[in-house]
Amino acid sequence: MADFKTPELKEYPVVPNLQEGVMAHSKPFVAKPQFQEPLGYPGELVDNWKEVAIAKMGELTSKYRSLQVFLDACVKCGACTDKCHYYLGTTDPKNMPVARQDLYRKVYRRYYTFAGKYFPKLVGAEDLTEEVLDDWYSYFHQCSQCRRCSVYCPYGIDTAEISMAAREVMDEIGKGQKYCNEIIAKVNVIGNNLGLPEPALVDTLEGLEEEVFDDTEVKVRFPVDEAGAEILLVTPSADFFAEPHVDGLIGYAKVFHEAGVTWTLSSFASEAANFGMFIGSYENMRKLALRIRQAALDLGVKRIVFGECGHAWRVAYSFLNTLAGPFDFLDPKYPVPQHICEFTYDLIQKGKLNFDKSQNDHMVLTYHDSCNVARASRMGSMPGGQFVIPREIIKATCDNFYDMPDYSIREGTFCCGGGGGLLTDDLIELRVKGALPRMEAIKQVVEEHGVTHMAAICAICKSQFSKVLPYYGFTMDQIVSVHQLVSNAIVLTPDQQQAEEPEPAETAA
Ligand code: SF4
Ligand code: SF4
Repeated sequence: MADFKTPELKEYPVVPNLQEGVMAHSKPFVAKPQFQEPLGYPGELVDNWKEVAIAKMGELTSKYRSLQVFLDACVKCGACTDKCHYYLGTTDPKNMPVARQDLYRKVYRRYYTFAGKYFPKLVGAEDLTEEVLDDWYSYFHQCSQCRRCSVYCPYGIDTAEISMAAREVMDEIGKGQKYCNEIIAKVNVIGNNLGLPEPALVDTLEGLEEEVFDDTEVKVRFPVDEAGAEILLVTPSADFFAEPHVDGLIGYAKVFHEAGVTWTLSSFASEAANFGMFIGSYENMRKLALRIRQAALDLGVKRIVFGECGHAWRVAYSFLNTLAGPFDFLDPKYPVPQHICEFTYDLIQKGKLNFDKSQNDHMVLTYHDSCNVARASRMGSMPGGQFVIPREIIKATCDNFYDMPDYSIREGTFCCGGGGGLLTDDLIELRVKGALPRMEAIKQVVEEHGVTHMAAICAICKSQFSKVLPYYGFTMDQIVSVHQLVSNAIVLTPDQQQAEEPEPAETAA
C-alpha cells in the first residue's frame, strides 16, 4: 500500500481541523505530447502560457454564462465548506469548495473585473503566476466534479464547472492530465477506454456466452456488430472483463434475453464513458458522442440503451441529443437514450421478469448513489426516479436491503473518491482519503444491520471501491453491480425467442 496514513473511521462524521497545504504535493502525471496533440492541445507548456490562459478564461466566461455567474455570485457564506469529501478526508483547506473556486476566481477577478484590475488587494484578485498554476494543477485535480457542494450552496454555485474550466485552460496551455487525455485518445482511435480491439472484444463476448451457458444451460447471447438488431447497448468497457462490472453485463444480457429483444454491442462505439466532460472540453465530448450516433446509424438500430456508468449517463441523459442529435432515425416510442435500469425496472413493473431472490440471500445489501446519476441526471418519468429505480431493482432481486444514513445518500450522496477523471494510481492517496465519508456511512450500516455488500451503477465507483475498501478494513469484493444482483436472481426461460416486439417503456425519461 502507498506511503500515507489512511484516515481513521469515526462513529459519525466530524468536520476536521484545517491542515494547510497537506495535499499540495498531490498531482496527477502530466500528459505527454502524443496524447495532448490529437486532442487539439499543445504538446507541452507553451512559452506564452500566461497570455494564452488569460485569453482562454475570457473565452470560457463569455461562452458559458453559468461560469461567469458562479464566479461573480459567491458571498462567502461558508455553507459549502464542509461538504466536500476531499476536504473531510484530507483536511486541506484548499479542498473546501469555496477555496477551490477562489483559486480560479482570484485570477478571473484580476483580469476580468474593474475592481480586480485597479484595486486587486481589496477584492482578493491575484496575478496568474507559476505558483498559482501549480496550485491549479494540484487542487483542480482534487475535485471529482461530484457537485455535492452545489446542493448546499444557497446560490447553487457548481464548483464542478469551475474545475472543468480550469482543466480546459490548463489543456489549452499544454498542461493536460495524463490519465484523462490518454483515455480520450484511445477512444478516438480504438473505440474504448481500455484500448480493447475488435477481435479481443469478440473473443471476450464469446467467452461470456460459453460461461453463462455452462452455468445455466441457457443460450444467452452477447452479440457484437449485428446489423438490424433492435437495441444498441453502449456500456463502459470495464463491463467487458473486470469484476464486478462483467457480472453486471451478464445481467443486462439475461434481461435482454428475457425481454425477447434483439440487441448488439458495437466495436466502433464500445465505450459509454466520455472523459471529454472531465476535462471540460465540449469538442472532445462531442467527438466521442458522435461515435455512438455513427454506430447506431451503421447498425440500423431502433433504440439506444446505456449500461451502468455514472458520468456516461449524465452525458447521455443531459447532453447526448445536443452533442450528437437529432436521433430522429430511432423509434420515437422509446426514450433516447434509455438506461439499463429503466429498461429492467419497466419489465419488472410489467411482471415480465421472474426472480428467485434466495440466490442473493448470502448478501445484505446497501446502495451507493453515484454522483452523476444522483445530481446530474434522472431516470424514469417520476421525480427522483434515479433514486427509486435502482433501489426497486435491488428490492425485487434481494431480500435484505438497508439504506445508508440519510446525509450520505440520494442528492446528498458522497462521491466514491475516484470520479471526475481521478481514478488513477498516481492519485491513490487522494482517492483513499476522499473515500472516507462513504466508508464511515458503510461502517454504520455494517454495524447496525449487518450489511455485507454495497451495490452501485457506476463503473468508476465500482473500480474505486474495489481498490479503496481494503484500506478501511473491508474487502474488495464487497462492491457489486446492480445487474449482478439481477443476474444472480433472474429465472431464465430456456428457448426465449428474440423476436417479440415489447411494449414501449413507461419510464420515458
Ligand atoms: S464538486 Fe465535489 S469534489 Fe468538487 S469541490 Fe464540490 S464537493 Fe468537492
Ligand atoms: S455556499 Fe456558495 S455562496 Fe456560500 S461560500 Fe460556498 S460557493 Fe460561496
